Amino acid sequence: MKKVIILRYSEIYLKGTNRGYFEKMLINNIEKSLKGFQHEIHREMGRYLVEGFNEESLDEILDRLKKVFGVHTISVAARVETGVDQIFEACKEICRQSGSFKVFCHRADKSFELTSMELAAEIGGKLIEAFPQLTVDLRNPSFTINIDIRENKTSLVFGEYIKGADGMPVGTAGKGLLLLSGGIDSPVAGHMIARRGMTVDCIHFHSYPYTNLQAKEKVIELAHVLNSYTGKMNLYIVSVTAIQEAIHKNCSPDYMVTLLRRFMMRIAERIAKREKINCIITGESLGQVASQTIEGMNSSQNAFESSIVVLRPLCGFDKDEIIERAKAIGTYDISIQPYEDCCTVFLPRHPVIRPAIEDVKAEESKLPVDELIAGAMKTLETIKL
Ligand code: ATP
Ligand code: MG
Repeated sequence: MKKVIILRYSEIYLKGTNRGYFEKMLINNIEKSLKGFQHEIHREMGRYLVEGFNEESLDEILDRLKKVFGVHTISVAARVETGVDQIFEACKEICRQSGSFKVFCHRADKSFELTSMELAAEIGGKLIEAFPQLTVDLRNPSFTINIDIRENKTSLVFGEYIKGADGMPVGTAGKGLLLLSGGIDSPVAGHMIARRGMTVDCIHFHSYPYTNLQAKEKVIELAHVLNSYTGKMNLYIVSVTAIQEAIHKNCSPDYMVTLLRRFMMRIAERIAKREKINCIITGESLGQVASQTIEGMNSSQNAFESSIVVLRPLCGFDKDEIIERAKAIGTYDISIQPYEDCCTVFLPRHPVIRPAIEDVKAEESKLPVDELIAGAMKTLETIKL
């Protein structure tokens, strides 16, 4: 019995003129995710069939497919020649030995001798004969066996609907630049936005030699995990060491975080403009730490030259919810490795919590802002994942 993977996408997005575009992006992303695995993909209405793969790699292939945004559900089916005996053998193989069940049949091939109802009844009866502990429950069964009689004289038999990543195919909603720290929040923020179809590039700021090289490795590792959902990514790495030193030397220590944030935003804005990126994404959550007040967010927004949009998808989440998501997407264990982020270098004892914009600007006027940004841009390193 040959195995086939059925991928279904949500019908909602198929309405209107975008359908072809959506489908093309989705299939491209599925292809990309299966790079390195032998396979063929066939398209049918509302779904794709992945076939011709090495069945020993099935679990790895499923792990990849579960990360493709736009896929609603996944099933692993057996493909058999259409015939009651062959279909029954496949059903028997996936059938549990006890519990309540039903057989659901869909018949695309109307020339098959039995109707859907007749075949379901026939197979159901044979399964009960084979496993007398089974009971039929058409309303609320504990499991369902699905039979799909295709037009090409073969049938697909499957049990489970595995939950896909849902969302929209990456590439259908523009491009964002994620400020990726080594913390728990920013990777989750990037994942959430990518799930809405946005291509995500990342920028990380470090303060080497105040922070060590392991901190950078950790961020690269986080970017790799995010990239396993998005398929392609640029990771920009910029040193803010000179900027932090200049703030430390010239400004009130309480403004370190506020001022540094403004520099990060400006540098991100420059790179976004150069790379034709439409928005900036951060992992800020309202009120989570002292610097993440609405005044703090206004202060960093105010640093931009353009009207670039900042997306802060975690704003309304509690830390517990963010941690749960970080675990689910596979970034949590990396994020909790104890390497220092640049923000902790020169950390003030009493950071300003509600910075007034005039005070921020007064502190900032003590710095050669353009020169510091130009210097930081010279340290830019680009890693293509
Ligand atoms: P995270 O867990 O994402 O680090 P956090 O709760 O620790 O968030 P902050 O450290 O105040 O919060 O950072 C807020 C946001 O600013 C981060 O989510 C991230 O988007 C951005 N950010 C902070 N530090 C850096 C950095 N070194 N490089 C890039 N972005 C950063
Ligand atoms: Mg942080």
